[in-house]
Amino acid sequence: MEEQKTNKQLQDELEEARYQLEEANELIEAIRSGDVDALLIKSDEGHQLYTLENADITYRIFIEQMNEGAALLNADRSIQYCNSRFAEWVGMPLEKVIGKDFTQLVATDDFTHCIELLNDARYKNTKGELSLKGQRVVEMPVSVSLTMLKTKEAPSLSLILTDLTAQKKAQRLLKHQNTLLEEAQAETKRLNAYLEQKVAERTKELYANQQRLALMLETMAEGVGITDANGQMTYANPMAQRILGLKQNAILERTYDDPQWQNLRLDGSPLPSHEHPMAVMLTTGQPVYDCEIAVQPPDKERFYISINAAPVKDDDGNIVAGIGTFMDVTNRRKAIQQKDEFISVASHELRTPITSLKASLQLLQRMKDNPNLKMLPLLIEQSNKSLNKVSVLINDLLNATKLTEGQLLLNKSAFKIGDLVQNCCHHIRVEGVYQLMSTGDDNLYVYADSGKIDQVLDNFVNNAVKYAPHSKEIQINFERIDNMVKISVTDFGMGIPPEKVPYLFERYYRVDTGGHQYSGLGLGLYICSEIIKKHDGQVGATSELGKGSTFWFTLPMAV
Ligand code: ADP
Repeated sequence: MEEQKTNKQLQDELEEARYQLEEANELIEAIRSGDVDALLIKSDEGHQLYTLENADITYRIFIEQMNEGAALLNADRSIQYCNSRFAEWVGMPLEKVIGKDFTQLVATDDFTHCIELLNDARYKNTKGELSLKGQRVVEMPVSVSLTMLKTKEAPSLSLILTDLTAQKKAQRLLKHQNTLLEEAQAETKRLNAYLEQKVAERTKELYANQQRLALMLETMAEGVGITDANGQMTYANPMAQRILGLKQNAILERTYDDPQWQNLRLDGSPLPSHEHPMAVMLTTGQPVYDCEIAVQPPDKERFYISINAAPVKDDDGNIVAGIGTFMDVTNRRKAIQQKDEFISVASHELRTPITSLKASLQLLQRMKDNPNLKMLPLLIEQSNKSLNKVSVLINDLLNATKLTEGQLLLNKSAFKIGDLVQNCCHHIRVEGVYQLMSTGDDNLYVYADSGKIDQVLDNFVNNAVKYAPHSKEIQINFERIDNMVKISVTDFGMGIPPEKVPYLFERYYRVDTGGHQYSGLGLGLYICSEIIKKHDGQVGATSELGKGSTFWFTLPMAV
């Protein structure tokens, strides 16, 4: 506890303190007025000399050499002090700047802002941006730091100003570049949008094309198969699957020359791999057109296809895939075979009666000077028969040709079908070997070409005689069914195997009679069927093996 001090002691201490204060004030005044240049201060490290004049000069030099502008303002905003940099900026000699109202040196537009900054600075350190007007034409942007200095005299405001010209220029440049960038971005955006739209359009177009192409491939009447460069199947359209009789998966497991196809040449011999049109195309790089081969599936009928093969090449000309389009030409091939067979049958058929005619004529020639009266009529009859056969064959051929060329002209009239039946097949009735029995309503009239219908009936009866020689009785029946008249010829001969019946009216079709050779071209029933169809009627046959056959046709009734 501090010892209680007496009044006297306290008064001495106060006196001492007053003296010290007075001394300190005098010293400060001396320093302020410049009477004191240096101070000798005693500290723990001993005595130190502080040179007041040096400190002030250094400070002033420092202020002068600063890149910043510096100014001290009085409370009335007049400039108490400024450095030369500031004077230079405002374009006036230093001595003219001192005393000027700072706000007069600020750009007119910034006046209000300047007043605000100066006011704010009275309470706190403040920062802002202004433009100095000065004497220059161009305003100069500066940043200002304002600090209130509490000096012994009246408080003054210190302003440190930094030139923002370069920064503003850089900012302007930056802004300009930003604008350019924004413009470029906008353009890029526009281009992007355009591109996106184009891509969308192209994608849509491509998709539509692809759809069209897919649809075409799906619905094409030709089979389409695609292989890779090694011949491995990679695609088969529905028609290809149908022709080949295999599902897509099974096809894709094979190469075009897989032995499982059992590809054959047209003569039936195995087709070597290198002869396959796809192989020819893949090795030569050239397309192959309409190359016909046969395919023999293990469990189905042999079929024929005509193949077009084309390579798909990349930009360097290398084959990357092969496309084979093919169609089933089995019918075409069968027709060709049928025609070939027909020509050989026709030649054979014509040769037989001609040979016989030739023999008869040779005999007649030999006996021309000494005729054998017994032989003569026989030979003449034989010659006539042969000639008739030739004539019938040639008529059939001509008729068939006319039919295929659509030249069957009808001369229709209404007539009693009973009359036609009674008078048909004169030669058979005259021979008397076969009995023609006819039944039906005598008053049934048909509207048809009587000559052509006579030809049809004649053909049916002749066939009965030819193919059922032991059936001495041949029945001809006619009856009305609705608005049609049905005429049928029935024999009691060997009949026809049921599976053959549907084909009887086809061109060139002849039933294989197993050993027995009947002459004929397979044209008679075809011609009959075409004549009846032209009359808007129908033809047909029913038959039972060993019991006989009925061939029938219908004609429209005459109204
Ligand atoms: P073709 O000139 O060969 O006689 P068709 O067209 O007249 O030709 O007859 C076709 C086939 O129908 C004949 O080859 C024959 O086998 C068979 N055919 C026709 N009529 C009869 C019939 N009445 N009885 C048995 N088979 C018949």
